[in-house]
Amino acid sequence: MTKPLIKNPYAFNGSPLTVVKMDTDNRVYTEPKEKNSENCKHFYIESYGCQMNFSDSEIVASILKKEGYELTNTPENANLVLINTCSIREKAEQTVRKRLELFNGIKRKKKELKIGVLGCMAERLKHKFLEEEKMVDMVVGPDAYKDLPNLLREVDASREAVNVILSKEETYGDIAPVRLASNGVSAFVTITRGCDNMCTFCVVPFTRGRERSRDPKSVLEEIAQLKIKGYKEITLLGQNVDSYLWFGGGLKKDFKKASALQQKTAVNFANLLDLVATAYPNMRIRFSTSNPQDMSFEVINTMAKHDNICNYIHLPVQSGSNAILKKMNRQHTREDYFELIDNIYKTIPDCGISHDMIAGFPTETEKDHQDTLSLMEYVKYDFGFMFAYSERPGTMAAKNIEDDIPEPIKKRRLQEIIELQREHSEFRTKQFIGKTVCVLIDKSSKRSNDYWSGRTGQNTVAVFPKENYKLGDFVDVKIEEVTSATLIGKAVGISQSI
Ligand code: SAM
Repeated sequence: MTKPLIKNPYAFNGSPLTVVKMDTDNRVYTEPKEKNSENCKHFYIESYGCQMNFSDSEIVASILKKEGYELTNTPENANLVLINTCSIREKAEQTVRKRLELFNGIKRKKKELKIGVLGCMAERLKHKFLEEEKMVDMVVGPDAYKDLPNLLREVDASREAVNVILSKEETYGDIAPVRLASNGVSAFVTITRGCDNMCTFCVVPFTRGRERSRDPKSVLEEIAQLKIKGYKEITLLGQNVDSYLWFGGGLKKDFKKASALQQKTAVNFANLLDLVATAYPNMRIRFSTSNPQDMSFEVINTMAKHDNICNYIHLPVQSGSNAILKKMNRQHTREDYFELIDNIYKTIPDCGISHDMIAGFPTETEKDHQDTLSLMEYVKYDFGFMFAYSERPGTMAAKNIEDDIPEPIKKRRLQEIIELQREHSEFRTKQFIGKTVCVLIDKSSKRSNDYWSGRTGQNTVAVFPKENYKLGDFVDVKIEEVTSATLIGKAVGISQSI
C-alpha cells in the first residue's frame, strides 16, 4: 500500500486505545486508560483496516466492560490482548502477523495472557488460525462479538474458542459503544453491516457477510447519547451506506419477501439522512462509503437541503476503464459515473469528492490505465486512496482471473495515479485561497502545538493559530496559503453556521 495524500482511513496503523473523560468545564477529552487494581482483569485492543473495524472495537470494548474488564494501553499489563484485523490486502494480514509475533513474545513471559484475533482475518482463516498461530487462544468473526463472554469462558477452561458464524440479523444496534481513541468531537455510528456488491477483487462479502441495516430508532438514540456527551460531528458508517434499507430487520436481499406494509414504510438512506439532520441541526453529519450505483438523486437532494450534512462524498470508482469495471463486477460504467459526478456538482457545486482506485487489476492494459487517468482528469478529486491490486484468496477474481500484471508495472501505474492525484489535490486546495471556511477543530496540529487542526465540510484539513479557540469549536478560518493536502489560515471568529 502506498502513502495517501491525507490520513488514510484504511491505514494499518493500529492504535492503543484511550478513554474519554470530562474536564472541569465539562469538556470531553481523552487520555490513556491505565488502571492497575489487582483484582481487575485488563484488556488491550489494537485495530487495523477500515473505519468499520475501529467502530467494531468500540462494541467489543462495551461488551468486555460489562464482563468486568478494564482497558489498558500496554499489552504487558493485559490479561487479554485482542487484535481486530483486516484482510483487504495481503500487506494488512502481514502487519497483523507481525503484531501477533510481538504479543506471543509477551505471552512467553506471561503464560496466563490470552490472545484473541477478531475481525476479517479471523473470519477468513477461521480454525486455521489456531493451527497456524499456535499461541492464539480465541478467534472471533465480526458478527460474533456478543459471544465473547462465552468464548472467554471456553478459553479459561482451555477449550477451543472459535466463533465465526456470520449473521443475518446482527447490527449491534442494542449495544452502546464505548468510545475509544476519541477526541470527544467526532464519532462513527454504524448503520449497515456486510456487503452484497460482490466486487470480484474484494474479500468483504466473505468476511463481513450479507448486507443488513440497523433500526433507525437505535441510530437516533446513539446520536442522542453522543450529543449529550458533547460530540459535534458524526459519520454514518457502512460498506455501502447508500444501500441502507430498514424494513424491520433482516438481510437487504430479503426485502422483496417483506410484507406490503413493511415495503411501504421502509426507510432508505435519504430518509435516514433527513431524519438525522433534522433531529440534530447543530451536529455535522457525514457518511461513508458511497457506492456509485446506489447513490440516488434523493440522497444528493437531501444533502443540498440540510446545511448540517457535509458537502463531501467518498465515491470509490476503482478504475476508469469500462472493460476493467466489468471484470471487477462494478455495477456502473465510466459514463454512469460521469453522469453522477455531473449531477453532484450541479446540485452541490462546492462538494468535496474523494475516491478509491486500484492499479493493476488483472488484464489491465496501458489503455485501461490511461482511461483511469482521464477519468481522474475529468473529476479532479479532492483526494483519494490508491492501491496496487492484491489478490485475495476466495474472491471471484482470485478464482477466475490470473493476477497477470507484473509488480513493477502495477507500481509504476500506481505511482502515476498518485502523482496525478497530488496535482488535483493541489488544484482543489488552491481554490480555497482567500476564502473563509467553517472548520470544526478536532485536534492539535501535528506540526505545531500552537496550531489547531480541523476539517472543512468538504473534509479538507485546515490548520490555524490556536488563540483562544477550543477543541470542538466551529471556527471561520480565512485561508492564506495551502499545500496539496492542507489549508493554512487565520481564525476570524466563531462560525454562525456549521
Ligand atoms: N465498500 C467500499 C467499496 O466497495 O467501494 C470500500 C471497500 S474496501 C474496505 C476499501 C478499498 O480497498 C476499496 O474501495 C478498494 O479500493 C480497496 N481494495 C479492496 N480490495 C482490494 C484488493 N484486492 N486489492 C487492492 N485494493 C483493494
